[in-house]
Amino acid sequence: MIEVIQGDITKASLDCIVNAANTSLLGGGGVDGAIHRAGGKQILDECIRIRNAQGNCPTGEAVLTTGGRLHAKYVIHTIGPVWNGGQSHEPEKLSSCYRNTLNLAVEKGIKSIAFSNISTGIYGFPKDKAAEVALKTVADFIEKNATIERVQFVCFDRDNYDIYLERLRIS
Ligand code: ADP
Repeated sequence: MIEVIQGDITKASLDCIVNAANTSLLGGGGVDGAIHRAGGKQILDECIRIRNAQGNCPTGEAVLTTGGRLHAKYVIHTIGPVWNGGQSHEPEKLSSCYRNTLNLAVEKGIKSIAFSNISTGIYGFPKDKAAEVALKTVADFIEKNATIERVQFVCFDRDNYDIYLERLRIS
């Protein structure tokens, strides 16, 4: 089941929330900053451990930590592409973020997952295009994979919320 809500993803009480991180995994602004602030030091400590073990996380990939103080048991940190005019495979890279995140979620037995609107803040991906990629990738994935029971898109800003509602209405 796919749901869309408007709100703050740090308040979500699903099994897992998805952070729009950067390649350093060391935190940043936007939703990344909000998740680290709300979830506490344990999340950052795990990110540092992962980074020490494997280096920077490439764009399109995803890593998993616990949820620290959050309601969610896990946080998956995925690295969205920076929008660069659309000629640098940004849609494919964004699609990889959603797919790799869902693959990791399945591996961990996660049944419910809340996504932030990856790349649509500081990284400048056009919101309508990003929603199209997100919804298509997630719908294709859950059609083939029954272990994920619930996917929530948590839209922080009104524009994204309206775009997601409209796209779901016409789909
Ligand atoms: P990126 O660098 O991938 O663009 P941002 O954090 O700048 O990441 O923005 C990604 C999306 O997260 C934006 O749509 C922004 O409105 C949204 N966002 C910011 N804070 C929160 C929050 N607390 N909960 C959910 N979404 C948020």
